[in-house]
Amino acid sequence: MSRPIYLDYQATTPLDPEVFEIMKPYFLSEFGNPSSKSHVYGWNAEKAVEKARTQVAKLINSDSREIIFTSGATESNNLAIIGYALANKALGNHIVTTSVEHKAVLDSCKFLETQGFMITVLPVDSYGKLNIQDLTEAITDKTILVSVIFANNEIGTINDLYEIADFVKSKNIIFHTDATQALGKLSFNVKDLKADLISFSAHKIYGPKGIGALYVRKQNPRIKLAPLIHGGGHEQGLRSGTLNVPGIVGFGAACESAEKNQTTELLRIENLRVKLKSHLELKLDGLIFNGHPTDRLPHNLSVSFLNVPSEILIRNLTQVAISPGSACATASVTPSHVLKAIGLSDDAAMSTIRLSLGRFTTENEVLKAAQHIVNTVKVLGDSSPLYVSLKKYDNRGSYETQV
Ligand code: PMP
Repeated sequence: MSRPIYLDYQATTPLDPEVFEIMKPYFLSEFGNPSSKSHVYGWNAEKAVEKARTQVAKLINSDSREIIFTSGATESNNLAIIGYALANKALGNHIVTTSVEHKAVLDSCKFLETQGFMITVLPVDSYGKLNIQDLTEAITDKTILVSVIFANNEIGTINDLYEIADFVKSKNIIFHTDATQALGKLSFNVKDLKADLISFSAHKIYGPKGIGALYVRKQNPRIKLAPLIHGGGHEQGLRSGTLNVPGIVGFGAACESAEKNQTTELLRIENLRVKLKSHLELKLDGLIFNGHPTDRLPHNLSVSFLNVPSEILIRNLTQVAISPGSACATASVTPSHVLKAIGLSDDAAMSTIRLSLGRFTTENEVLKAAQHIVNTVKVLGDSSPLYVSLKKYDNRGSYETQV
């Protein structure tokens, strides 16, 4: 049986086979520990790690010593926010973030509340963007850190990050951004973008899972962080633990490939997304497309079908692999906090799917997927006896469906 068409590239991407080839020796012959300074196995591993560090740094035009390898963006967000707050609490105890951040940011902030920090979670507009005026009003003389997502993982909206960073820096406050979904999609560099801390993950850019990085500015200003993991003092003392050499090598190779392919690849993917959207719009009534119409990631399409709960829709969409509003929130069947933050009702939020396209998506797949979605939504439409019976037998009772 053929597998469903994969349209969930924002949850994760397949490893690029070329990246895998580059990683392979570091599982097999080049298995040394980069901390082993006394033999060639260790030297070769260390050389590979430093090459990868340079490749990651090059993609954002930073110094390679400003790249700290972590297990992924969840850890990077924790290290940036908790690590900065704990190391700098003498400067103040107030942190500002937004209502559309990834849980790794919001829950790091929640943890800090238990440690005596005050957190302001700012609202966003109906596209999911932070308004600078709201930020201006939130800053106090106790504010030490502002954390704002670069590009949203659920609705694809890109924040006005340069203006936000300029404003935060003009107040002499440290600025962190979660750029997990932006890396490899938007070209940016740390000379123009005045962020002090930036979180990344390899598995969103055709690299392996379980590896990521935190950019930590070294000059103007030099950022001081408290490590969250203690031990052998790896990664300049910020992240102890034997380095994941194959993962790091894969992350470096994925960054190099992103740099080479970014422009042409993203144009192709954007065209496919436009086709997918037009097909759905043409054949179905009453759709709501979420996120900003133009300031958006090229590969994301978040769409609400007002009369079809996404849980039921996804169960019936057997030929496509997609997510409800957010893959990272699927353990719970509460409405996505991002969709609620942009003003969707519970019903609309629960009737939303996220389609995301990538490097290996073909036009044929997009057209097939679009037709399959159209057919399934029509079958499940309000008047359909099948939809009514599905609702009747939907014994999870996790949320109310519209009749
Ligand atoms: N931030 C954002 C915006 C994300 O999309 C994700 C992945 N869903 C993460 C953080 C967490 O990344 P990781 O899987 O590398 O921990």
